[in-house]
Amino acid sequence: LRILLVGAGGREHALAWKLTQSPRVDQIFVAPGNGGTLFGDKTVSVAISADDFDGLVAFAVRSNINLVIPVGIPVFGPSQRAAAMEGSKAFSKDFMARHNIPTAEYRNFTDHAAAVEYVKSVNHPVVLKASGLAAGKGVIIPASTEEALAGLNDIMVSKEFGDAGSEVVVEEFMTGQELSILAFSDGYTALALPAAQDHKRIGDGDTGLNTGGMGTYSPAPVATKEVEAEIMRKIVQPTIDGMRKDGIPFIGMLFTGIMLTPEGPKVLEYNVRFGDPETQSLLALLTDDTDLAEIMLACIERRLDCVKFEMKKQAAVTVVLAAKGYPGSYPKGDEITFDALPDNVWVFHAGTKATPEGKILTNGGRVLAVTAIAPTLKEAQALAYKGVDCVHFEGKTFRRDIAYKAFLEAES
Ligand code: ATP
Repeated sequence: LRILLVGAGGREHALAWKLTQSPRVDQIFVAPGNGGTLFGDKTVSVAISADDFDGLVAFAVRSNINLVIPVGIPVFGPSQRAAAMEGSKAFSKDFMARHNIPTAEYRNFTDHAAAVEYVKSVNHPVVLKASGLAAGKGVIIPASTEEALAGLNDIMVSKEFGDAGSEVVVEEFMTGQELSILAFSDGYTALALPAAQDHKRIGDGDTGLNTGGMGTYSPAPVATKEVEAEIMRKIVQPTIDGMRKDGIPFIGMLFTGIMLTPEGPKVLEYNVRFGDPETQSLLALLTDDTDLAEIMLACIERRLDCVKFEMKKQAAVTVVLAAKGYPGSYPKGDEITFDALPDNVWVFHAGTKATPEGKILTNGGRVLAVTAIAPTLKEAQALAYKGVDCVHFEGKTFRRDIAYKAFLEAES
C-alpha cells in the first residue's frame, strides 16, 4: 500500500507511526507533515499544503497512491454532504432529532428577533452555537439571560464569527462528564475504540481559556461497559444507520462528543475525523499486531463486520506541550531538544518543523504531545510526566493534572 496522509498535527504523526507497523504498507506520504513525521524509511513528507486539493489529487495520481487518509479537513471526509454533520451544527441537530438520537433540546435560528424571543421564553440556561465552522470558538455559554441576549447580538448582528454565525443553534445547557467516542465505520457497522476524555481548558482543574485539547486519557472509568454499550446502542449505531438512510453513508472515523447527563448520554457534537489528542492515546493502546491500514481498507471495502481489533490491557495518558501564551499569541522557532525517552513513551509532533541541519523547532501553539501507556492509569500518568521532563524548549506549557477526573471518580 502507498498511503497519502493529509495533515500536519500530532494526530497525523500518531497515525503515520501506527501505519508504519503494518506489513501491508510500503510507503506513507505525509502532506505537509511536521518535524516528527520524517521518521523511519517508510515515511516521507511532501510539501503540499493540506488545503491544496488540486495539488494533493495530482500528487496522489502521479505517485500511485491507493489509500488517502484525509484527517485535517472535513470536506475531504466521507463526502461533502456527510461532512455537514461537523460543518453545520444546525444540520447535525436536525439529523439527531429526525433519528431520535439523544441530544440537548434546541432550536435553530437565522432570524435575530426570533432567537431573542425564544431565549426570553425558555426557563432553562442555554448555550449558543454559531452553526458553521468557527475553529472551536463558536460556542458561548452565557451565565444569564442578559448575557445570552448579548451573545446573540455578537453572533447574529455584529457577525463576530462571520458567516459561521448566520445560523445559530440555541441549545439547552447540560451538565455531566464529557467523553469522546471514536468509531470506525463502513456505512453499516460501527467499531468503536474505548472512550477517551479530553481536557479542553488551558489551566489545571479545567480553568482558563478553551484550547484544541491539552491532554487525553483512555480508558475513562466513568465509561463503564454498560455506559459504552448504551452509547453504541442509542447514539453511534443509530447515527451510522441514520446517515445511510438519509443517503449520506458514513465511511471513515466518526468522532462523537458526548455528555453523560443525569438523563443518560447525550450528543454534544460530531466530527467526521480522528480527534486530536484522543488519537494519540487510542493508537498507543492498539496491540502491536493490530493493522490500522487493514481496518481502514475494511471501512472502504464495506467489510468492517469481519474485522476485530484488540486493545492492550493498559491505560494511556497523553499530555500536550504548548508554546507559552497559547491559546493566545505565542512565539515560534524555539529549538526543541529531547532526552532519551523511557520505554512505552512516545512523542508525537504537532506544531514543529525540522531545519535542514536536523534541528527541531517550535512552529505552532500545540507543539507536541507525550503519550505513555502502563498497566494502570496512575502509572501511565506518572510515566507520561516523566516523558514530559525529557522534552525541552523555551516556555514549555502544559497541564499537570491530565486524567485527574478518573481519580476523582475512583475516590468518590
Ligand atoms: P470543538 O472544539 O470541540 O470542536 P465545537 O466548537 O465544535 O468545539 P461543541 O463541541 O459543540 O463545539 O462545544 C464545545 C464545548 O462547549 C463542549 O466540549 C462543552 O464543554 C461545551 N458545551 C457545548 N454544548 C453544551 C451544552 N449544551 N451544555 C453544556 N456545555 C456545552
